[in-house]
Amino acid sequence: VAIKRKTVNRRVSQPINSYLSVLDRVIAEAAAAEEARKESDIPQQEVTKNVWLTKDNKTWSLEDLDPDTPPPPPEKSHPFDPSHMKDFEDASLINNLHEAPLLYLLLRRFSEHNIYTNCSDVLISVNPYRKIEGMYTDEKIKEVYDNSTLEKPVTLSPHVYNIANNAYSVMMNGVSTRDSKENQSVIISAESGAGKTEAAKQVMKYLISASRLKNAENASEDDVDQIQASLMQSNVILEAFGNAKTLRNDNSSRFGKYIKLRYDESYTLRGAYTEHFLLEKTRLLQADKGERNYHVFYQLLAGLDDATKESLHLSDPADFSMLSCGETLAVDGIDDRSEFELLAASLSTIGFAEQETSDLYALLASLLHLGNLTFKGDEDGGRTTLASNSIPIDKLSSFLGVGTMALTDAVTVRNVRSGRGSIMSMNLDESQSKQGVNALIKHIYGNLFAWLIEKINVSNASNAHSSSFTSKAFVGILDIFGFEIMKYNSLSQLCINFANEKLQQQFNQQIFVLEKELYAKEGIPVDVITFRDNQAVIDLLEKKPAGIIPLLEEQSLLSRKPNTSQLISSFDKPHDGKHPNYQKARFGNDAFVIKHFAGDVQYSGDALIEKNNDSLHDDLKILINNSTNDFLANTSTDFKREGKSGYLVSVNDFTDHDDEEEEEDGANSKTKLAASNTVTSVFRSQLSKLVATLTSTEPHYIKCIKPNSSKSATTANDELVLEQLRYSGVLEVVRIRREGFPIRLSFKEFHKRFEILCFKDDFPAFRKATPADNEAAATFICEKCLDPNEFAHGKTKIFMRNGIQEKLLSLVQNVF
Ligand code: ADP
Ligand code: MG
Repeated sequence: VAIKRKTVNRRVSQPINSYLSVLDRVIAEAAAAEEARKESDIPQQEVTKNVWLTKDNKTWSLEDLDPDTPPPPPEKSHPFDPSHMKDFEDASLINNLHEAPLLYLLLRRFSEHNIYTNCSDVLISVNPYRKIEGMYTDEKIKEVYDNSTLEKPVTLSPHVYNIANNAYSVMMNGVSTRDSKENQSVIISAESGAGKTEAAKQVMKYLISASRLKNAENASEDDVDQIQASLMQSNVILEAFGNAKTLRNDNSSRFGKYIKLRYDESYTLRGAYTEHFLLEKTRLLQADKGERNYHVFYQLLAGLDDATKESLHLSDPADFSMLSCGETLAVDGIDDRSEFELLAASLSTIGFAEQETSDLYALLASLLHLGNLTFKGDEDGGRTTLASNSIPIDKLSSFLGVGTMALTDAVTVRNVRSGRGSIMSMNLDESQSKQGVNALIKHIYGNLFAWLIEKINVSNASNAHSSSFTSKAFVGILDIFGFEIMKYNSLSQLCINFANEKLQQQFNQQIFVLEKELYAKEGIPVDVITFRDNQAVIDLLEKKPAGIIPLLEEQSLLSRKPNTSQLISSFDKPHDGKHPNYQKARFGNDAFVIKHFAGDVQYSGDALIEKNNDSLHDDLKILINNSTNDFLANTSTDFKREGKSGYLVSVNDFTDHDDEEEEEDGANSKTKLAASNTVTSVFRSQLSKLVATLTSTEPHYIKCIKPNSSKSATTANDELVLEQLRYSGVLEVVRIRREGFPIRLSFKEFHKRFEILCFKDDFPAFRKATPADNEAAATFICEKCLDPNEFAHGKTKIFMRNGIQEKLLSLVQNVF
C-alpha cells in the first residue's frame, strides 16, 4: 500500500491526498491492531470498530473514538475498514463501502491505467484520455468471447467487452437466475466528455465481432462485413452533422442516440436501426467562445473544390457568422479537409446519388447564407429591408427553390388572421425578421438531420439478406447525455434532467426490484432494503394537468404569452410548499428549483416559452412547402400532414375559410399541431417511446466518469468525480447493496469454498458432494461460524452481508 500510495501521489491531484494521508495514519494502526487480533483471536470485524472517517466539508479525517462514545452521525462519518486500502475489481466487495473508499479505489485504478471497475453488475469507466496499449484488440475480444463459451467461465477483469458480451449471451441464453428478456439494452449515460460515445463504439465493435465468432463455421461473414462497413460509414455522417467541438470535448455528440443492432435466428448481425433525441439546434446560431458549429460546415468549406465553392458563393469560415461566432475555426487534431473526403465517400456508399449529394451541399451553403442575412428596419414602421448578405438574394432563393419575392416577403412580413377570419399583413421589425430566419435555419437543419438518419436506417436495413431476414432479437445501445447542473439551467437542462430521472427510475427498478425479486424467489424476507423511488419528481415534471412541462406547453400555446414571472407563478401556485420536490427560487421570481435525485437544480424561466416554441410561423411554413427544392418540400411533413383542412392553408385559400365553423376547426387543429410542435412535447413522446423500449429489454449499465476537466491523462479531481458518481446513481447502487445481502454463493460453491471449516469440526459426512449435502454443509458452516443476522439461507444460495465472506476466509486461514 505504501508503494502504491507514492505512485498515486505522483499521478493524481491534491484532494484525494487528504484521504491518502488518513490512510497512511491508519496503516500503522491497522497493522498494530491486526497483530493484537492474531494474538487474542478477536474476529477481524471487531478490529476497526472504533476507527471512523469523519467528513467535514470536503475533507475526510480519521477519528479514533472511545468505544463508549456514540459514533458521529452517519452523514458525517463512516467506519473505516482495512479493505479500503486494497485493490478490488468489484467495488461492491469492499467492506463498509461508501464514497471515500469508492473514490479512492477508482482514482487509484485510474492512475494505474485500470480504467474499468465493476460495481456489482454496473461497469464504471474512467476516461483515460490516452490510448491504452492492448485494451481494444481482437485478441481481447476473442478472450472475452471464448471465456463465455466455456462451461464454467472465469471472472475476467472488468472491461467494456464483458458488458457487451453479457448482452450478447443473455440475448441468446437468458440468465439462469431470472426470467430475462430476449432483447437487450446497453445503457450509457454520463456527462459530456466522459467517454460515452467511445464506450458505445467499443460495445458495437464487440457485438459485431461476437456475431462473426459465433458463426465462424457458417461463413456468413460477408454480410457482417457489409454491416460493419455500413455502420462505420453511417457513423461518419452522424458525427459530421451531429458532433461539434465544445469546451469539454473536441468531438462532442450534440444529440442522444439509441442504436439497435438486429440479429436473426442464428444470432448473426443482420442490420441496424438508429433513433435520435434532442439535437441541439441552438448551436447552429450561437456557439460559446471556444466552441464550433457542427463539423459538417467546416468540412464543406475545407473540402469542396474551388469551382463548386465559387458556384455556391462559399468562402472562408470566417466570413459566415454561424461559423465564426465561437471564435474557433479550426480544432487541433481535426483535419476538416480529410474528414470531408470521408464524408463524401460515406454519403456515396450509403446510397446518395451524385445529384443528391450536391443538392445537400447547396442546402448547407444556403443555411450559411441565411445565417448571414441582416435586416434594416424602417423607423416609420414601413417594410424592413435586407441590409446585407453574402450571396445575391435571387441566387439564395433559387438554392432554396423559392421565389425571390416569396423569400423576402416571408422573412419581413407576417400574415395574421384576425378574429373574424380576414387576413392582415404585419410588417416585421429587424429583430423579428432575424428571428424568423433563425427559426428557418433550425427547422431545415433539424429536418435534414432526421432525414439523414432515416436514409441511414434504410441503408443499414438493406443488406444482401434483408429480404429473407426476420429480426429475432436486438441489442440496443443508448448513448445519451447525463444529468446536468449548470450555473444557468434552461430548457435543455430541463429535458436532459427529466430524461435522466426516467432512466434513473429504470435503473433503480433494475437494481432494486430485481434484487427484491431475487430475495423473494429465495424465500428471504425482502424488507431488508429500502427503495427511494423518484416517481414523485417525475410526476412533478410530467403529470397533467399541473406538471411543470404540461404547464409550460399549455402556456406556450396561448396567443397572449405570459411573461417570465407569470410563468413562474403558474408553477409556484400548485407546487410551492406542497410538492416535496419543488421550491421557489431563493431570490427573485424568474426561476424555480427542482429537487432532482442527483441534487437541486435552479431553472431560469427566462425565454423558456420562446425556447420551447420550435415551430415556424405560418408564412415560413408555406414558403418551404411551396419550394421546388425536393428536399425542403419532402421534409416539411408537419405541413403536409395537416393539409388544407387545418389552419395551415396557403394565402390564396383564406377566403374560402370565412365561416364560424371552419374557424373553430382551424383553431382546434392549430392547438393540436402547435402542441405537438413544442420542444418538450416532441421530446416527451420520443422519451416515452424510448422508455417503453428499454422496459421491454434486459438492461446493462455503463457509467462513464470524467476524471478532470482538462482532458488530462494524469490528473484527477475528486470533487468532480464524486459529483458524477452521485449524478450517475452509482452511490445508490452502493447503498442498496450494502443494506441487503450483497454476497451470494450457491450451496455448492459455498461448500467448495469453505469445506475446510467442516473438517475443522470433524464433520466428514458433508464431504460427499450431493446437492443435499452441499446445502446441509453450507447451513452447518453458517450456523457454526456466523451470527444469525450475518447471513440468510435461501432456497439455492447462501446470502451474506457485506464483509462476511472475508470473516469466513479469515477463519479458513486460521485453520492452517
Ligand atoms: P462523450 O461521448 O461522453 O461526450 P467521448 O466518448 O466523445 O465522450 O470521449 C471524449 C474523448 O475522450 C474522446 O475523444 C477520446 O479522446 C477520449 N476517450 C474517451 N474514452 C476513451 C477510452 N476508452 N480510451 C481512450 N480515450 C478515450
Ligand atoms: Mg458523445
